[in-house]
Amino acid sequence: MESALTARDRVGVQDFVLLENHTSEAAFIENLRKRFKENLIYTYIGSVLVSVNPYKELEIYTKQHMERYRGVNFYEVSPHIYAVSDNAYRSMRTERRDQCILISGESGAGKTEASKKILQYYAVTCPASEQVQTVKDRLLQSNPVLEAFGNAKTLRNDNSSRFGKYMDIQFDFRGAPVGGHILNYLLEKSRVVHQNHGERNFHIFYQLIEGGEEDLLRRLGLERNTQQYQYLVKGNCPKVSSINDRNDWKAVRKALSVIGFNDDEVEELLNIIASVLHLGNVQFGAEESGNAYITTDTQIKYLARLLGVEGSILKEALTHKKIIAKGEELMSPLNSEQAASARDALSKAVYGRTFTWLVNKINLSLAYKDDLYPLSKNASVIGLLDIYGFEVFQQNSFEQFCINYCNEKLQQLFIELTLKSEQEEYESEGITWEPVQFFNNKIICDLVEEKFKGIISILDEECLRPGDASDLTFLEKLENTVGGHAHFVTHKLADGKTRKVMGREEFRLLHYAGEVNYNVNGFLDKNNDLLFRNLKEIMCQSENKILTQCFDREELTDKKRPETTATQFKNSLAKLMEILMSKEPSYIRCIKPNDAKQAGRFDEVLIRHQVKYLGLMENLRVRRAGFAYRRRYEVFLQRYKSLCPDTWPNWKGRLADGVSTLVKHLGYKPEEYKLGRSKIFIRFPKTLFATEDALEV
Ligand code: ATP
Ligand code: MG
Repeated sequence: MESALTARDRVGVQDFVLLENHTSEAAFIENLRKRFKENLIYTYIGSVLVSVNPYKELEIYTKQHMERYRGVNFYEVSPHIYAVSDNAYRSMRTERRDQCILISGESGAGKTEASKKILQYYAVTCPASEQVQTVKDRLLQSNPVLEAFGNAKTLRNDNSSRFGKYMDIQFDFRGAPVGGHILNYLLEKSRVVHQNHGERNFHIFYQLIEGGEEDLLRRLGLERNTQQYQYLVKGNCPKVSSINDRNDWKAVRKALSVIGFNDDEVEELLNIIASVLHLGNVQFGAEESGNAYITTDTQIKYLARLLGVEGSILKEALTHKKIIAKGEELMSPLNSEQAASARDALSKAVYGRTFTWLVNKINLSLAYKDDLYPLSKNASVIGLLDIYGFEVFQQNSFEQFCINYCNEKLQQLFIELTLKSEQEEYESEGITWEPVQFFNNKIICDLVEEKFKGIISILDEECLRPGDASDLTFLEKLENTVGGHAHFVTHKLADGKTRKVMGREEFRLLHYAGEVNYNVNGFLDKNNDLLFRNLKEIMCQSENKILTQCFDREELTDKKRPETTATQFKNSLAKLMEILMSKEPSYIRCIKPNDAKQAGRFDEVLIRHQVKYLGLMENLRVRRAGFAYRRRYEVFLQRYKSLCPDTWPNWKGRLADGVSTLVKHLGYKPEEYKLGRSKIFIRFPKTLFATEDALEV
């Protein structure tokens, strides 16, 4: 038999806490590499699960695996996402405390796959009844629908989620899933009208064109050729080898009906999707005066029919802007460039709002609705957060700014919840300890979100200011307001000179995970997200019921300006933080092993970067600063009682006394451990290693 030591040499340690040299990033990565080579993609840092995307199907998600992890203690089995799922479920059941599982990592790291595996685990292992089965089916089927409308092929991931998602799963007093609720964040709407080279639009467009039945396409006025549509040709990437649009279409149609969409709703939904494609093909010419006119009348005919609007009004709305001067309405003509951007704004608004409508519709279908048995106080919740991790590109814009801000907030939450809970555990166990030093990133969150003087406030102010406001005046204002902040840098130096390494259109934030330069180009437009009033009006008049729900007439009469994108995001994040704060967290940190989406390739540079931006070394340091290991007395005694004649085969007295007798017999020194009220705390991993090794002999 292989000795424990050589096994450890080969497959590494299953908890980074057990690494001898825990401050060494090299040792950390070496451990990941060893395990990855052996297809061991999961490793813990205490209770945090680190997962490396294998880019191949592993035989570790079978029903037998699910059974193996069911009701079993974390440390008794090898690390697995099912262990985290089961642990959260059991804590929810026994401690009656709501849970949340926070999944982070960069694009392609495996967040969405992880969240699906968790959902499947609950669907298979939790108690069920007939009614519950419907809920389980709907929960599972919500994924293909959301992915069709919210995911796309990008350079990083063939199935990249272009929105953030938080999903609550509600359980009744028996622990059966009985309902769910989804919150969505910041859909990347710009993708509807533009894709970078090698990327695609949202999956649904291709699914409809490739998979839609003949008469359906005829009714929608679509041809079975994606290359006919301006909105689908920008990335020059109609087909993806890993994607079968035709099969996915069938899956989505089925999923829609499982979730409870009726035929009329599906028809209206598809009318909207087809309309977006037609809108993209509306082209403009310029009259001598420079005013835009529409050169593509067929599209207008289809649009009028599919959206249920008057063609002539639509034409006018696409080429004019309504202004109200001295109480009178005036139609001011647009030039062809302005008209094209108004058209794109309409497409983005229509798609974005339809996506939100879709989420609401799914929520209605997932809502618990049993009047006979209202959800009792004993019902509880597990939340799953699948949201974009830190993004650092060559060029970073408004989107990265929002995403990275979101990650700062999540780090705040981690500090609040984890360090606090660590502290609480020592206190409740009556253990004295030294508080851990860590960087509190609240200062960066404040820099971004503080009222009046935070970056978002300044951005909003510039968006509101009439006259010469521009991206550059925004940057200037930033310099004047937060220029002196320790985490904010621009090319300007305090002595009036300039920093050569930075562009004049950039500002740099020193995030908790590292530095990111943001280019201010487009910040104002993206934050404003304007849609001309007459285009809104026409959507309100549409005969399409989905659209009339998406474009509320009240919006037209409302004198208040709609909230800006950044402020909306900030507010929805604040709500999310509130939700998460009330729950007990588990963490899954996903890592992408290479950029080629290939199995077996471990790109060290790329991985080091992620270890840094996920804050894993800090995670480990905090975890190690206290006691590396802790186990409940009964678990510890059960596992090691054979090593001491006094505790073998059964200890009759108090558990704490049994553990004390056992560790004294094993020669533990007083500084190596502490006995709490219900757990033993072991300071150094090597102490536990020695004990583990003794078992093997
Ligand atoms: P994004 O932020 O772009 O949405 P993501 O983190 O959600 O990225 P996923 O879509 O979950 O990434 O994973 C990308 C791809 O990696 C999957 O389509 C799948 O091919 C592969 N993959 C991820 N996790 C696993 C796994 N556990 N087993 C096998 N393949 C996986
Ligand atoms: Mg995803």
